[in-house]
Amino acid sequence: MAKQIQAIRGMNDCLPDQTPAWQMLESVIRNTVASYGYSEIRMPVVESTDLFKRSIGEVTDIVEKEMYTFDDRNGDSLTLRPEGTASCVRAANQNGLLYNQEQRLWYMGPMFRHERPQKGRYRQFHQFGVEAFGLATADIDAEIIQLSARLWKQLGLAEHVRLEINSLGSNQARAVYRDALVAFLEANIEHLDEDSKRRMHTNPLRVLDTKNESLKVILQDAPRLSEYLDQESQEQFKLLCQLLDSAGIAYQINESLVRGLDYYNRTVFEWVTDSLGAQGTVCAGGRYDGLVEQLGGKATPGVGFALGMERLVLLLEHFELLENLPKPVDVYVIYSGEGTQTAAFALAEQIRDNLLSLRVMVHCGGGNFKKLFKKADRSGAKVALVIAEDELSKQQVTIKYLREEQAQQSIEMSSVSEYLETLFSK
Ligand code: ATP
Ligand code: MG
Repeated sequence: MAKQIQAIRGMNDCLPDQTPAWQMLESVIRNTVASYGYSEIRMPVVESTDLFKRSIGEVTDIVEKEMYTFDDRNGDSLTLRPEGTASCVRAANQNGLLYNQEQRLWYMGPMFRHERPQKGRYRQFHQFGVEAFGLATADIDAEIIQLSARLWKQLGLAEHVRLEINSLGSNQARAVYRDALVAFLEANIEHLDEDSKRRMHTNPLRVLDTKNESLKVILQDAPRLSEYLDQESQEQFKLLCQLLDSAGIAYQINESLVRGLDYYNRTVFEWVTDSLGAQGTVCAGGRYDGLVEQLGGKATPGVGFALGMERLVLLLEHFELLENLPKPVDVYVIYSGEGTQTAAFALAEQIRDNLLSLRVMVHCGGGNFKKLFKKADRSGAKVALVIAEDELSKQQVTIKYLREEQAQQSIEMSSVSEYLETLFSK
């Protein structure tokens, strides 16, 4: 036998028994963003490499070691998008969406990062994200957090995730803080690990993000960003906290939350869970007021978040919240004998015409009734409709219940849709 070709490591198929969970998640997301009046935007999965270098930052995990970058046939450097914000800003700039306008946008789709695959971390994964442009005050920050909180409620996950927030202040305030932090790190250089020594001069705030426990202890004495915040950022952060309080959304202020990407300022936040091991961040975002201009547009404030859909599906599985998803088939039609095939196909089409939401599968491929019933059962359908020659001559159908103890019944061919409508509306 020929050798089978395998999928790329870390890039998963979504198999038929998994797609109902994804469809449910996608539909909850669509309904939620719709209820806030957000519009969908769809961007290409490939962009020029410079877009990500210039936005995410050269000294970040993503740009340093995670991007799928390759040369196009004409020598241009292209990259499979590792995240959506940069593409969204590029698309909005390029298409004039930000010209004296506010935009509240959302997107959903695959992202690509060359990471070590493990539970909750893949090389192709999916994000849902929102981005709001042209709004400078923290009311919109609160709104997108509220939108995410509504998602957890809709999915039954509200109890299992918690919100952490912080303010990074203005770029100027952060620059002053950065100098103070670097001075502290230099004074403690003998305690730093290799990663931190490297980051100390390139991206020192990331040192605060360390997972190294002994370093965390040292960092407790580091200067605090909150003491360096500019007046305006302090006020906006206060407003954010007030709005979250009045919306009844609980949060913790985490001063070492700095986010891995360069473009953030002021509000940053993460929704985290303790149920996914090291891959505990399900949703992350913040404000990026400088990014639009940095990418060549007119200065426009922006704020957004992205959530990892695989991690959400894992959480839903973990808390057994995927038990009652619909099976793909409601009604399975079987037939045997002269003239019954045509009748079965016609009946199925008639039901599909009348009951748009019902999923009707007609048996194909022949076989005896024993085999047909086995297939009907395996389809997961609630009922089988049976047409044999006897039924056909009387213009009737036999309905058999596959999931419950209930006697089979004969119904008139012409009233099958009506019967099913009542049955499935229960
Ligand atoms: P992490 O710290 O887990 O690497 P990150 O800070 O790199 O996350 P972001 O760039 O903020 O992640 O992306 C937003 C969300 O996308 C994350 O919170 C996570 O839920 C999800 N995500 C990021 N990378 C992956 C991945 N490789 N596989 C699956 N989900 C991911
Ligand atoms: Mg990462």
